[in-house]
Amino acid sequence: MSRIQLEGLTRHFGSVTAVNDIWIDADDGEFLVLLGPSGCGKSTLLRMMAGLLPPTGGRVLLDGRDVTHTPPQGRDLAMVFQSYALYPHLSVARNIGFPLRARGRSRAQIKARVEEVASVLDLSGLLDRKPRQLSGGQRQRVALGRALVRDPGAFLMDEPLSNLDSKLRSTTRAEISALHRRLGATFVYVTHDQVEAMTMATRIVLMNEGAVEQVGTPEQVYDEPASVFVAGFLGSPAMNLVEAGVYAADGRLRVRSEGIDLPLGIDADVPARPVVLGIRPEHLVVAGEGDAGVRGVVSTVENLGSEEVAHVRVGSEGRMSLRGPRPLGLRAGDPVRLTAPPGRLHLFDPDSGRRLAWQAAPVTAPA
Ligand code: ATP
Repeated sequence: MSRIQLEGLTRHFGSVTAVNDIWIDADDGEFLVLLGPSGCGKSTLLRMMAGLLPPTGGRVLLDGRDVTHTPPQGRDLAMVFQSYALYPHLSVARNIGFPLRARGRSRAQIKARVEEVASVLDLSGLLDRKPRQLSGGQRQRVALGRALVRDPGAFLMDEPLSNLDSKLRSTTRAEISALHRRLGATFVYVTHDQVEAMTMATRIVLMNEGAVEQVGTPEQVYDEPASVFVAGFLGSPAMNLVEAGVYAADGRLRVRSEGIDLPLGIDADVPARPVVLGIRPEHLVVAGEGDAGVRGVVSTVENLGSEEVAHVRVGSEGRMSLRGPRPLGLRAGDPVRLTAPPGRLHLFDPDSGRRLAWQAAPVTAPA
């Protein structure tokens, strides 16, 4: 078990700031996912945790011990990379047992431990095979086994599933989650795949340009994104984001833009101000006659199997998408009026991009 604390961790490469002043406290047994677009600094951060890269500034603490300058082998951590890096000429058993042989354990100890790990990872029947005789998912499990065999306090994983096809990714994802529950060890996992993050993380660290945009449970980052960046990064299709204004009308707040007029469900009398309005595609619903809402014309409807996504032109230049169970009952060319519950409307400051705090309407409030 390991608690991992990062205190102001920073890394420059020449004039590039890859990681900028990051503070994270990962509890014992957490499954922390570092999520963000390519180049945002995830791998650099993980490599500094592992001791593979010295930080330019800040500290790394493991169970309260400062390990900033401790080499990888002194950190009680195991790394699993996207490339399996198995020894091709060694059997599965010898690949898994390799870290123990390097530590001078006896043959009997190694055999017993390898069998134990193989049984946890469902590899018992494959111990005599060579890596080339395995599928991609099996190879990835061997790589996991090699990390597991030492019984480390924490596992650091860098995109371990990115070489697998989509079906194998989803089964291996479930296996890694189950493994985490069984071991109770701390996992730190790098990915740019939001589905992996949402399904496996106890907390997501969403990164952008070397900095942390938000740290929270999958529910928190999805339901209450802290910034326009987070709002646009998570969700498929992405959250609809439009420039709009908030106005008080008869003491009630409304958000308006071309083709859009929605109540916020908040009693207040504040001066008008510009905002960025965000609405998730699944929170838009088709409404009957009425004045308020989002008015537009359906441009296309995509069939996703169990669901459909309708793309709607709003005003002269706006676009919104709406996702719901198939059939939505919409066709290209249909004029449409959409609404969303006030508690599902997200408002952001157009300058800073940060979430505005006064949108306190409960999700259950009537539209
Ligand atoms: P990806 O998802 O594509 O792997 P990432 O989020 O893991 O990306 P990093 O690999 O940490 O991103 O890189 C962060 C930034 O630091 C990038 O701008 C990258 O070009 C730069 N960088 C990383 N390693 C080096 C290096 N050894 N020398 C110079 N720049 C580097």
